[in-house]
Amino acid sequence: MSTILFLLQGEKIFYPAGRDISETTMIFDSIPVGPLSVNCYIVGCEATHAGIIIDPGGDVDLISKRVQKHGLTIGTIINTHGHFDHVGGNRQLLAASGGARLLIHHADAAMLAMVAHVATMYGMNGENSPSADDYLTDGMLITCGDLQLKVLHTPGHTQGGCCLYFEDQLKVITGDTLFADSIGRTDLPGGSHDRLLESIRSKLFTLPDNVIAYPGHGPSTTIGHEKRCNPYF
Ligand SMILES: [Zn+2]
Ligand SMILES: [Zn+2]
Repeated sequence: MSTILFLLQGEKIFYPAGRDISETTMIFDSIPVGPLSVNCYIVGCEATHAGIIIDPGGDVDLISKRVQKHGLTIGTIINTHGHFDHVGGNRQLLAASGGARLLIHHADAAMLAMVAHVATMYGMNGENSPSADDYLTDGMLITCGDLQLKVLHTPGHTQGGCCLYFEDQLKVITGDTLFADSIGRTDLPGGSHDRLLESIRSKLFTLPDNVIAYPGHGPSTTIGHEKRCNPYF
């Protein structure tokens, strides 16, 4: 079994000396939140303390404590897609972050107003999210202090599903598109198995093999491992 499980809690990535960005340190942390244990990612630039929160599905107090521990100012909250388990903490976190902007792909934006309704269908409670301040588009670059991420639109699990690629740090946050040894379900509204496979092939399997993939649920993996071993390909 060659899956490499990486310790996520409090992980810090230090650039090797000699690179242009050698003084920049990335803060990269994750917390499983909410009833469906969504991996909420906290990303920050240690030089500027600018931070991004990805998929605050719930447990906002926990997220806020971790943000404080890292000394970050959250300027951006990103939802990889619109499912209630990934967006359920948006409202509370936006209020706590005062002035942060919310980003999601346009194709999933309407789901932000359906959180409470959908959560009830699953026998859970959920809070509708404020609407997005801007929309993610394929190839869009988002900066966070000295860090930069590139948006990869990867429809299939939902129509607006996106992955977030930190090219300099060799990390990609894959939402519910790609999991360790699995892929996202496609039986929910807007899902398409063929589209999902095509998204993964064209947008994720074209990344370097040593890029670490951080999914929306469960452990991390690498692009190389998934290309070799993922049973759906
Ligand atoms: Zn989902
Ligand atoms: Zn999910």
